Amino acid sequence: MSMLHRNPALNTLLEQHLHHLADQENLSPRAITDALEAGTMVLLGNPAHQGLMPILVGQPAKVKVNANIGTSPLCNSPEAESRKIAAALKAGADTVMDLSIAGDLDALRVGMLRDCPLPLGTVPIYAAGQRILDADADIATMNPEDLFAEIAKQAEQGVDFITVHCGLSRRGADMALHDNRVLGIVSRGGALLARWMQENGRENPLLEDFDRLLDLCLPYNVTLSLGDGLRPGAGVDAGDAAQWEEVINLGQLARYARQRGVQCMIEGPGHVPLHQVRAQIQGIKRLTDNAPLYVLGPLCCDSAPGYDHIAGAIGGALAVEAGVDFLCYLTPAEHLTLPDEADVRAGVMASRVAAHVGEIALGRPAALEREKAMNNARKALDWEGMSRAALDPAMLENRREEHKSEEVCAMCGKFCSVKMLRKKEN
Ligand code: SF4
Repeated sequence: MSMLHRNPALNTLLEQHLHHLADQENLSPRAITDALEAGTMVLLGNPAHQGLMPILVGQPAKVKVNANIGTSPLCNSPEAESRKIAAALKAGADTVMDLSIAGDLDALRVGMLRDCPLPLGTVPIYAAGQRILDADADIATMNPEDLFAEIAKQAEQGVDFITVHCGLSRRGADMALHDNRVLGIVSRGGALLARWMQENGRENPLLEDFDRLLDLCLPYNVTLSLGDGLRPGAGVDAGDAAQWEEVINLGQLARYARQRGVQCMIEGPGHVPLHQVRAQIQGIKRLTDNAPLYVLGPLCCDSAPGYDHIAGAIGGALAVEAGVDFLCYLTPAEHLTLPDEADVRAGVMASRVAAHVGEIALGRPAALEREKAMNNARKALDWEGMSRAALDPAMLENRREEHKSEEVCAMCGKFCSVKMLRKKEN
C-alpha cells in the first residue's frame, strides 16, 4: 500500500494543496507525490492547525529555514514570544518551533498555533519534563504514560511536527556519557531521557513503544522529527561512536515509520568542524535512505559566541551543498541568552543566506535566477531591481535611505566604477 493510502490525513492535505505546492516549488505534481512516497520529502501539515499553509521539506523541494522561539525560566513573556513569531514571519522563516520550557505551555502553544500560519513544531518531552522539574522532582520519576498523553494532546491541538528522541538507546547514552566525549549530552530532550533511562535501568520509552507513537501521530499527519539526542556539542566530539549509534537507529526507525504511513525527518548535528560537514551529511543521508535532513547549523566552530549565526551559516551553506534539506537557525544569542526579536531576524536571515549559497552551488534554477536578476540590476544601477532580487529588501532600502536620491551609492560616489565604465561605453 502506498504512503498516501496509509496516511489519509496526508492524502487529504495533498488533494487540497498539491497544485499550489507545485507552483511554489516549481515541481510537477508527480515529482512531489513520488518524493513523498519515497520518503525523501515530507509535507508538514496537521489538518487540525487552523489557517495553516503546509510546506514541503526534502529533495527536490527548496531548502527551508526554521526559527526556534519559546520561553525559558529566566525569560518568560508570552507577549515577547508573539513578537518573535511576527519577526520570524517577516524575515521569511518557513517554519517555527516552540521550545518553551516555562509558563503555561498549553496556552503558549495554542496562541502560537493561532498566530502562526506556518507549520509549528514542538518538543513534547519539554512539557512532560516541566511538570516534574517545576515540582523540584527528579526527571527519573516521569511516567512514560504522561509523555504519550502529552504527544496525543499536542497532535489534537494541531502541532505539525514533533521532535522525538526515539533513536537514543541506553547503549548510545552510555557511550556518550562514559566514552571520551568532552561535552557528553547537550540536547535537552536527550539529557532528560538519558537520566530517566540511567535511573530506572530501562530502555527509552519512545524507542521501546515506537508503534504507540506512530498510532498517535498518524491520524493527524504529525511528522516525526527524529531527534539527535546525542548530537555532538563540541567540534571534537563530532563523528564519535555514540553519534553514529543513534543515526543507525534513526535510519531503522524512519524506515519502519514510513511502512506504517508516518512521515519522518531526521535531525542532524550540531557542532561539526567544516572539514567533516560533507562526510557527516552524506553518511546520515546514506543511513536514513535519504530522508529529509534537518540540521542545527552545523556550527563549524565553538569559539564565536555572539556570532554563532555566522558560524552556523558557514556550516549550513556547505551542508546544503552536501544534501541537507532544512536548516534550523542559530542566532547571535546562542549559548548566551534567550533570543529577542532582533536575534530572531538575524538568525533567520543568516540561515536564508546559507540556504541560498548552498542552492547556488547545487545549480538550483530559482537561486541562479535570483543571482542573475541581482547582477543585471547592479549593472544598470537599478535600485528597485536590486531590491526585488535581494533576500532582504528591507535591509537594502534601509541602508540606502540616506542617499536614495543618488543614482550611485555612498560607497564610491563619483568613483562609481559601474557608472564610469557605462559612460565610456556610450
Ligand atoms: S558606488 Fe561603488 S559600490 Fe555603489 S554601485 Fe557604484 S561601484 Fe557599486
